[in-house]
Amino acid sequence: MVSLIAAGEVVERPAACVKELVENSLDAGATSVSISITGGGLDMIRVTDNGSGIEPGDLRLAFAPHATSKIGRAEELMGVATLGFRGEAIASISRVSRMSILSRRKGSDLGMQAENSGGEMGAIREAACAEGTQVQVKDLFFNAPVRKDFLKRPQRETALVAEIVQTMILARPDVAFRLMADNRQVYFSPGDGSLSGAVLSVFGVEVLKGLKEVDGAEQGAIIQGFVGVGEQARGSRAQQHFFLNGRAVRSKVLSQALEEACRHRVMIGRYPLCALHLKIPYNRVDVNVHPNKWEVRFADEGAVTAALMNAVADALQEAPLFNPPPLTLSPKAPPPASIQRREPEAVMPKPPRAMAARDSVAEKPLAAPVPEAQKPTEPEQVAHEELKRTPLNVIGVAFHTYILALHGESLLLIDQHALHERLLFDRMMARAGEKQDVQTLLTPRVMQLDYPAYQSFLAFGNDLAQAGFLAEDFGDRTVRLSGVPLALGEPLAEASFLSALDELQGQGTLKGRERLEKVILSACKHAVKGGERLPEGTLQALADEMVSSGITPTCPHGRPIVLALSRGELERRFGRIQK
Ligand code: ADP
Ligand code: MG
Repeated sequence: MVSLIAAGEVVERPAACVKELVENSLDAGATSVSISITGGGLDMIRVTDNGSGIEPGDLRLAFAPHATSKIGRAEELMGVATLGFRGEAIASISRVSRMSILSRRKGSDLGMQAENSGGEMGAIREAACAEGTQVQVKDLFFNAPVRKDFLKRPQRETALVAEIVQTMILARPDVAFRLMADNRQVYFSPGDGSLSGAVLSVFGVEVLKGLKEVDGAEQGAIIQGFVGVGEQARGSRAQQHFFLNGRAVRSKVLSQALEEACRHRVMIGRYPLCALHLKIPYNRVDVNVHPNKWEVRFADEGAVTAALMNAVADALQEAPLFNPPPLTLSPKAPPPASIQRREPEAVMPKPPRAMAARDSVAEKPLAAPVPEAQKPTEPEQVAHEELKRTPLNVIGVAFHTYILALHGESLLLIDQHALHERLLFDRMMARAGEKQDVQTLLTPRVMQLDYPAYQSFLAFGNDLAQAGFLAEDFGDRTVRLSGVPLALGEPLAEASFLSALDELQGQGTLKGRERLEKVILSACKHAVKGGERLPEGTLQALADEMVSSGITPTCPHGRPIVLALSRGELERRFGRIQK
């Protein structure tokens, strides 16, 4: 009974069993691991590898508790959490299942098979098999009904197994994994050593295309991998995968650093996705905190989080939304003087690269950098300077919300609120920490505030002043507002001031810079709304600023600003050209 309880702790469910078996395969140097389960792993789990195999004489030993062929290696320090279970996995699993191990050492022509049922050794005999090891576990928990009752339905157990395998795939891009569940392929990774290959096999090509590559090094920490923001963000942190020196870890600090670096690119209530490998000298990592929880602590947390944030921030520092197009001007191209705002096609023989790449209705991806070959050469550069940028030609507005515009060979739908909010935010953030330009109000506003708002005015007057709000206390909950950030201007004065006060309530614990950002973010909420009627000139001015400012393609809350429909896509849809 005692041994069954202990076994239940090592292998509490099929996923834990799969994890142990696959780790054994990896320990044996396998470069290919194939996992097959049926009935959520309760009916059958089979793990086949091309690793070193087990000596015939050691096969029986593998089932014995505390039997391990592995001696502590320096890097196993990281694995202290599992040390308590050293040499326990096979013994524990065999106690609560019917298990067989089939194995052949590399270079040996003899394969051996050993069986065990509920902890009782069965026959050991010669058997034909490929080099490597195949472990099969049938009827898991057949003799531990209480444990079995605790499990979820088979589909859920399958999902948990898939989660483990997914993590393994991302942790070890150099190993080819295959997961079959009820004879259907779930994952198949190439094992070619590239993380992009691993990410592709887990998340699919569309997600991979939307991810940003991270590649940074700082103070001895190397950080490489992918992050997903905007459309790629998820509803939970389940797809935040961190690997520390090759091991999957969970860490609140790492998640926080990631989320901080991705702020304003992820919608409220959503979380960036990532697969990030950190390489940090072992002496700077504290051992795991809890067995199997994969938690980790860093000796110098600040340095690690700073390195992570910088690496991610660099990765997100993409090319601006509206790059000057990669002009390839031929001598025949119309001279700059002939540019007519109404005929952008005339000056745009080629669509901007980013749009050509997508060629469909989609969130405007971050513009791809212009490949070397397409960069203008010297004389063209001159023409380019005169031309400057592809005009963005506003042709109308739909529902008083979406600006319709032509840009080269694309029709754009621009969310006026998202755009205005982003422009305001960027303008103000650009001056955060310095003195904001202030617009003095022609007639100062004297406002009596409710008590909480008045309190936050008294407490955070400095932050407000830094953001560009000039206000004085008149006593009796009354405040005189005489200037607002120039970026916002007079029309937004009162509303933005009041929402900044609201936003600041109870934010005493925030750091100065964070408070300032909150003020700015809340002030920017008063950007023009969707549904608000704007004069044509304003629409064009907004669009022009979008082109010239090189903004991030999402509003500060992470929602997309632009959808692009390429001419090619239209022509396909109308059947003008073949697919
Ligand atoms: P541990 O992994 O801690 O040594 P296990 O109970 O998981 O303990 O495995 C016991 C032993 O069985 C291992 O030390 C190893 O010698 C052998 N073994 C298990 N699985 C494999 C495998 N896939 N390939 C080679 N040897 C294996
Ligand atoms: Mg093991």
